[in-house]
Amino acid sequence: MSVAERAAREQRMANAAAVVERCRKCEIGHSRTQSVYGEGDPCAALMVVGEGPGETEDKQGRPFVGRAGVLLDKMLLAIGLPRADVYICNTVKCRPTFDDGVRLRNRAPGNDEMANCRPYLDEQIDVVRPRAILCLGAPSAKSFLGPKFSITKQRGQWFEGPSGIPLLATFHPAYILRMTGGEVEATKRLVWVDLKLVRAKLDAPAASAPDENPAAQPSLFEG
Ligand code: URA
Repeated sequence: MSVAERAAREQRMANAAAVVERCRKCEIGHSRTQSVYGEGDPCAALMVVGEGPGETEDKQGRPFVGRAGVLLDKMLLAIGLPRADVYICNTVKCRPTFDDGVRLRNRAPGNDEMANCRPYLDEQIDVVRPRAILCLGAPSAKSFLGPKFSITKQRGQWFEGPSGIPLLATFHPAYILRMTGGEVEATKRLVWVDLKLVRAKLDAPAASAPDENPAAQPSLFEG
């Protein structure tokens, strides 16, 4: 990746983030503290897509910086990926909340909110053009694969994502953190299986277009 290409991608991301910060398409655009556009390497091989920002993310303006983020960082490191080497974002860029009468609480993003935010996510995918997309949790996977997607039955399988990019879903780290007892280890084992599939996909040679004119290629065996 040339320095100029990296700079161009960073610029596109910065421009889009500024548009998102001005966006008020949804109610949560008014209740948020700030938007949480996404962060990481704009040339990353892996893009991680979560559900939506939580309270900590809303305060800091960065994705996955709360407890779930700490676990996500460990999950990525387990397959040799420091956080800075991937691109991390969410299906929606504002914290989805409801008011329980005392305070604002997190909730899953609505379909309308995900649809409003989709152009921003599509732009991120278009800028990064990752080798693979990892969806965390059912809402993220459903936003790409449709409402029938079942995280319990279909996690750990490769699907064709946007622009043909391979996409796989696993359990959300926040789901693991909410679990208790023996379930935790069993679920972690499943997530580990999924993460190893991601590692293998990234390690596989990139599919390249067949040579249009193989005769014009220099022969490896030319003496
Ligand atoms: N959960 C998500 O889905 N995204 C975040 O950014 C944080 C927690």
